[in-house]
Amino acid sequence: MVKRGREFLHTPGPTNIPDRILNAMHRPAMDFASPVFAEMAAKLFEDLKDVFQTSSEVFLYTSSGHGGWEGTFVNCFSPGDTVLLPEIGRFGRVWGDMAERLGLKVRRVPGSWRPPIAPAVIEDVLSKDKAHEIKGVLAVHVETATGAISDMPAIRRAMDAANHPALLICDAIASFACVPLPMRDWGIDVVIAASQKGLMLPPGLGICAVSEKALAASFESRSQMEYFSWPQRLKTESYSRFCGTAPEHLVFGLVESLAMLREEGWPQVFKRHTRLATAVRKTVEAWGQAGALEHNIVVPEARADSLTVVRTPEGMNADIIRATARETFSVAMGGSLGDLAGRVFRIGHMGDLNEPMVIGALGGIEAALRVCQVPIGQGGVGAAIDYLAETAES
Ligand SMILES: *Cc1c(COP(=O)(O)O)cnc(C)c1O
Repeated sequence: MVKRGREFLHTPGPTNIPDRILNAMHRPAMDFASPVFAEMAAKLFEDLKDVFQTSSEVFLYTSSGHGGWEGTFVNCFSPGDTVLLPEIGRFGRVWGDMAERLGLKVRRVPGSWRPPIAPAVIEDVLSKDKAHEIKGVLAVHVETATGAISDMPAIRRAMDAANHPALLICDAIASFACVPLPMRDWGIDVVIAASQKGLMLPPGLGICAVSEKALAASFESRSQMEYFSWPQRLKTESYSRFCGTAPEHLVFGLVESLAMLREEGWPQVFKRHTRLATAVRKTVEAWGQAGALEHNIVVPEARADSLTVVRTPEGMNADIIRATARETFSVAMGGSLGDLAGRVFRIGHMGDLNEPMVIGALGGIEAALRVCQVPIGQGGVGAAIDYLAETAES
């Protein structure tokens, strides 16, 4: 069957790339040693410090978000160090697996894959760690497998209450540029992001925004590192900033992305995400009235604005709903992961989206639910339309 029109991309990464960014990247390669590129890159690194609100540096790897993960581990810690990981979903779990393979000891606090991180648990564990063996707390801000957003300031307060010096490391890959994350004010030591989510770019940039304390740790690290080393990247030659050829086209795209976000205004970017997310949640609640579907995240305040994760009843394979939405109605959603295999579908709503895109996607998913004979309540996508109409700014 030939498909016409656009596929609606609602995977929680990659996200839609705006035409403006595609066009900014549509240009010939250039001499990365030229003053023109050097100036562009230097300005970008300065801008990124503002955008991330870091007290120190921002590093760009030509990698997926996993590169940001690895870069953080090798710079901030040494083999044998212990890190604390409250595990609330699959991204946290595999992040911890990576730490172990790099020689770190991971103190996992297992949880069910529905609530956000419990700050009280962090305070409890850190308070008992009198010898300060724990060198870092690993917190996934938006756990993309479950749809939970954790309260980063509350996690910081818990660490302070325990009077513990561990570094606070935040995986913000699914939250950066979707929700506020002022890292200096919130006392976060490393914010890890990636290009293909809120920043609306193709995959290919792993980003680490780093506090002074985290940067100081990188000079003490005994890990083997070269490409990922922050100290190496601070050498004077601009070539060393990227440790090799700069990912020029991603740089062109990122410059445009930041210009677009600045033009819209950061508060408005966050407001738009909250508004569209609320519309999606209204529809999920309307569907749930028939008793089959429900939010994976039970507590409303812990539902992320980046994506919504919908739980199906036991015995109803969510992956079939996802496949039907994609194959029959051209709406691509995220699939179920890890312990939630077969039990959830994930509706991404981060990045370059507006009202009719969200309404259209919800309409396609609702049609797929009908095809799959999932019992759904009345109203469905209408609940999103009602909300968007009620909250419209003229
Ligand atoms: C997408 C995502 C990742 C993985 O990013 P890659 O670019 O695929 O390496 C890690 N953590 C979270 C929370 C994510 O959403």
